[in-house]
Amino acid sequence: MNVRRPAGATGTEPLKRRLPPREDTVTAEENAPPTPAAFGSVSTHEDLVAWSRGYARSVADGDELSVDLSLVDWAVSTRAKRRAAAVKRPRIPGTEVGKPIDWDSVAAAAESPETVRRCTVSLTWEAAAAFSRAEWTATLRHELIHVEQFQRYGTTDHGPTFERRAATLDAPVRCRRFATPKYRLRCADCEEVVARRYRDCKLVREHDRYRSSCCAAALRCERVRNQ
Ligand SMILES: [Zn+2]
Ligand SMILES: [Zn+2]
Repeated sequence: MNVRRPAGATGTEPLKRRLPPREDTVTAEENAPPTPAAFGSVSTHEDLVAWSRGYARSVADGDELSVDLSLVDWAVSTRAKRRAAAVKRPRIPGTEVGKPIDWDSVAAAAESPETVRRCTVSLTWEAAAAFSRAEWTATLRHELIHVEQFQRYGTTDHGPTFERRAATLDAPVRCRRFATPKYRLRCADCEEVVARRYRDCKLVREHDRYRSSCCAAALRCERVRNQ
């Protein structure tokens, strides 16, 4: 993603504002924009969902993974997390990895039968920004194994069955944790976060030489706590 590198920068040009609003977004299958060509061109939550869903489709179209993507919702989270992505799903009592689930009887007993089979892949925006394409696709394959397990067994874990699937799909069993950015740069006028940085870089050190593109105002640099 290009949000890591907006200010490759001479120090005098304005900092382009590439980060999306801070609200979480959920994109439904139907109204999603077309998949962007390159991971490097992802710059909005919608792009990230479209790109990730497109990748998931390419994996699901192969023979290795058995996932019904029409039952999967996608979301982007901008809350600080240490997990790059997660599958959110209903907890279904009596389920066990390895024991195929009978969705019809679960749906018959469920309060909302139409949503009980659905799960959401939640993508952490900061992780996508920090990861390379290879790391991000590995993360997605990991989450897709969780989706596959949920759809097949009604639950999912990181046990031996997961490990075998991970080996087949060349996915990590433990996802790379990522660090919350160390620094946040805000527009001094409107308070919008215009950049985040993981280390003490030129933008951090010389932030008084930059201007925000939203308000052409000074940038305030703050150290992020509680990591
Ligand atoms: Zn996992
Ligand atoms: Zn501003």
